[in-house]
Amino acid sequence: MISWQEYEAAFALEKFFPDTNSRFLTHKSFTKQLKSFSDEFNITAIGKSEKGKSIHKIAFGYGPKKVLIWSQMHGNESTGTFAILDLLQLLHQNFFLKKQIEDHFTVVMIPMVNPDGADAFERRNASGIDINRDALAKQAPETRVLMKQIEIFEPHIAFNLHDQRSIFSVGENIQPATISFCIPSFDTARAIDATRVLGMALVGKIWQSFPEDFKTKTGRYTDEFYPTAFGDNIQKTGINCVLFEAGAHFNDPKRIAARTLFGFSILQAFKVLLNQQNPSTELYQSIPENEQKMRDIIVKQVKLNSRGRKLKVDLIFKLMEEVKGSTFYRYLKLDDIGDFQFLNALQVVDGKGAEFNIQEMYLGKTFEFQEFQQTFWEGVIV
Ligand SMILES: [Zn+2]
Repeated sequence: MISWQEYEAAFALEKFFPDTNSRFLTHKSFTKQLKSFSDEFNITAIGKSEKGKSIHKIAFGYGPKKVLIWSQMHGNESTGTFAILDLLQLLHQNFFLKKQIEDHFTVVMIPMVNPDGADAFERRNASGIDINRDALAKQAPETRVLMKQIEIFEPHIAFNLHDQRSIFSVGENIQPATISFCIPSFDTARAIDATRVLGMALVGKIWQSFPEDFKTKTGRYTDEFYPTAFGDNIQKTGINCVLFEAGAHFNDPKRIAARTLFGFSILQAFKVLLNQQNPSTELYQSIPENEQKMRDIIVKQVKLNSRGRKLKVDLIFKLMEEVKGSTFYRYLKLDDIGDFQFLNALQVVDGKGAEFNIQEMYLGKTFEFQEFQQTFWEGVIV
């Protein structure tokens, strides 16, 4: 189908969508990008969000195997939507690849399920509902739009694209979980039926195709049963549902690594689905489960002057991302003070014994990047 090197090269050369140079993708900017593909793909509006913004589906292919892919039911989880745009761009450029997929699959993509959340860079929809906990009650219009498409299309397999927080880590030497997968449970016992076996086998094969460096940055997300989540309920109906979680990578706050892994994984999935024989859960089970030992920034070894004593501590900073008005705004927040030698960070800064008074370095204090650079380290990547 396409190798990692080829995918990465296509991605780097084209610099797909350079004007969306952050994780913030507005509905307006997204629909503009999407419409540029309307000559080649069947793109239709399938419903509206709470605030009346259109939700679109992209359909192509005429093969027997039906694949549904949706993204961004959580508005601040844009990586999957970017990956879908990347794939459209790649298929636009690579006629042979597109034809290969079209011959064997019918594909429906529903990117940005939650446009109101996307514009506000918020997890929930405009009424505060978490769409991924609304699969049974169906109170959000976005939930009903997606559910209706699932009912009409009756996919064999569905890919549910999310972002996970940057705290997720993998393994004893604490690597970031740049990508995680889960084959959701359909009951509290987390029983493994034939459908789940197929999904696990698929993820195992995708993982096997990753470059070594990313194999150690792949995690398994908990398969604890969430009775009101989409994946868990769809799995119950016998449709295979694969949860993709985009995560952080060293020095990569825009999640370009995860975005590349997403697009590549979807292409690999097509390849695996073409000839899936003797499915085994072995590879999947060998992927370590996610832990939560990663932080955005740790400043090691600073001194805090507190009531006449000098304390030696590490500082943890959290990357904050929010929309104020219509502007995407990122800054850092001092999130923890103490001994963090058993955690790792996406950016580790040597504090070089710098001294502060507790009045100027306290929990919850926020820093603009420039301020952080001046106080701690010029090299911080933002
Ligand atoms: Zn999510």
